[in-house]
Parts: sequence; C-alpha cells; structure tokens
Amino acid sequence: MSKVFSSDIGFDVALEALRDGALVGVPTETVYGLAADATNEQAVAKIYRSKGRPSFNPLIAHVSGVEMAQRYGAFPEVALKLADAFWPGPLTIVVPLNESCGIADAVTAGLGTIALRHPLGIMADLAEALDAPIAAPSANTSGKISPTTAQHVFDDLGDKVAVILDGGACAVGLESTVVKVDGEKIILLREGGLSAELIEAQMGKIERGTRAPKVEAPGMLLKHYAPRLPLRINAKSVRADEALIAFGTPLDGAMATRNLSKDENLEEAANRMFAIMKELEDSGAHGIAVQPIPHHGLGAAINDRLKRAAEGSGD
Ligand code: AMP
Ligand code: MG
Repeated sequence: MSKVFSSDIGFDVALEALRDGALVGVPTETVYGLAADATNEQAVAKIYRSKGRPSFNPLIAHVSGVEMAQRYGAFPEVALKLADAFWPGPLTIVVPLNESCGIADAVTAGLGTIALRHPLGIMADLAEALDAPIAAPSANTSGKISPTTAQHVFDDLGDKVAVILDGGACAVGLESTVVKVDGEKIILLREGGLSAELIEAQMGKIERGTRAPKVEAPGMLLKHYAPRLPLRINAKSVRADEALIAFGTPLDGAMATRNLSKDENLEEAANRMFAIMKELEDSGAHGIAVQPIPHHGLGAAINDRLKRAAEGSGD
C-alpha cells in the first residue's frame, strides 16, 4: 500500500520515489496526477500499466516553467505568448517535439509532438527538483472518474503508487484544456479548466479541433468509463429511483440530490462535479439524472465530461 503524506512534509519522499522510477500521486490545480519521471522509459511504462491506459494515448509532461518546456518542445511565438499568459495554469500546449531531448518515447506515443504544461503548485516544484519533466495523466484507473482528493487516489490506485501527496481538494477540479500550436494557429483539442473564451480574449479566435489522437481499441471498451449507474444528461424531470445532479434550482422527486452550484456558478460546478459523481454512485439509486448545464465558459468542459460519462468513454 502507498504511503500518504501531506504535500509539504512528503516532498523529499516523493522526489526520491520519482528518482527511483516509482509512481507518485501528486495534487495539481486540475486533478490528482499519476506521476513518473518523463525521461525514464520504465517508469512511464508503469503509468500505462497501472491505469490500463492504451499505449497510443500520449501523456502530458509537466514542467517547472517555459525554460524547461523549451528543452523538450519547439515553441513558436504563439506558444510562448500562450505560456506567458496562462502558465502556471490549467492549459496544456502541444508543440513539435525536440528530437533527442531525452523524453521517454512512450510519453509522446511516437508522435512528433509533445504536450507540455506548467502546473500551479507542488508538481512544478517536483519537476524543478528532478530537473526533468513529470509525465502524469489523471490518477485513476482508465474508465473511472478523475480524482480530486488524495482519498480518491488511495481508493483506486493505493496498491500501485509508492507515495501519495495530499494537497487537499483540487482548486479547479477538471483536467487541463489542451491546445495544439501549429505555426500561427491555435487548435483546441480538449475543453478543460481554462475556458476557450478566456484564451480567445487574450489570443484572438482559435480553431476547434477534433480530440486527437482518438482512443479506439478493440478490447478497451470494458475499460471505458462505465459508471456503476447509467447517467442521463439534460434531464428535465427525475424519477423516484434516480439520484439527481442539480444545477441552480433542483428538480423535485429524486431519491438523493447533490447540487453542482445553487448559484449557477460554473467554476463551482466544475470544481464539485467529479466528487459528486463519485458520491452518487454509492447512493443506492438506479441511475443519475443531470440537469442542463449552460454551454459557455467552463460549461463546455463540464458538458464534455458528462457526455463521456453518459456514453462510457472517459479516461
Ligand atoms: P489526460 O488523459 O488527462 O492525461 O490528458 C492528456 C490529453 O492530452 C489527452 O487527450 C491526449 O490525447 C492529449 N495529448 C497528449 N499528447 C498529445 C500530443 N502530442 N498531441 C495531441 N494530443 C496530445
Ligand atoms: Mg484522465
């Protein structure tokens, strides 16, 4: 079983574990990450094994700042401007990979590009101390809900990680927004904790891409997000045997209700969503109904995750 430490006390133990090629559960402002030294091929292989993640789905490399990022990826002017505006923060930037930079091949899944992020907090401090990027997807078994507390990580992967750092509940609570920079263009690959509107306010119009690379593999289906309960989105009414995820004024009649945000605040809703989904899975209900969430701001990312949960296709 893994050892759990508060973030400040456990820093040296976590660093040692990373140097040894072990996995560490690390809090970030988005969700908890399943962290390994991104330059250690064996350590990175453990991430894929422990999560049951398909090897062609590349990982985000977390860095201590734009200087470290530029050792691994080529940053055109637009990418530098994005980093300057939004790092540290919930934005991952995909750029061309620097050949022979020392990153483990499995991190980039053999693509000629690399996804880099400078997170807020202890993950960046660990990368700085390690003097190498830290590869980290969300610290959950592929198919399960992303963890936003150390307890979530312990319950799911406690026997697979050496150390878990407990930094309390994540401030944002949703995975990072992923954009790809292609010359002058910025292409949105995944909605996340930084809204497209905020990026556009700073950078001008960005393109909406398709989420790439696509995760499709025979046999992976069972590992896709399969809530123990069916999830019904955009619900206008609720059955007596259903639990309700409310937004704003709750519908009447559910057997259990949790409100994402009484005040219809999308930041609060994003922050609470994964924890509420987990709670309601254990409520004894036969299904979960979710009230409509507006699609602007962080609502776009919330709706993306809810849709995946309803379809059984998360990671
Ligand atoms: P996560 O699964 O939350 O760790 O998020 C990683 C996301 O970044 C996934 O959607 C990946 O497909 C995406 N990603 C990572 N590296 C790349 C890359 N080089 N090109 C495109 N997308 C990437
Ligand atoms: Mg994930």
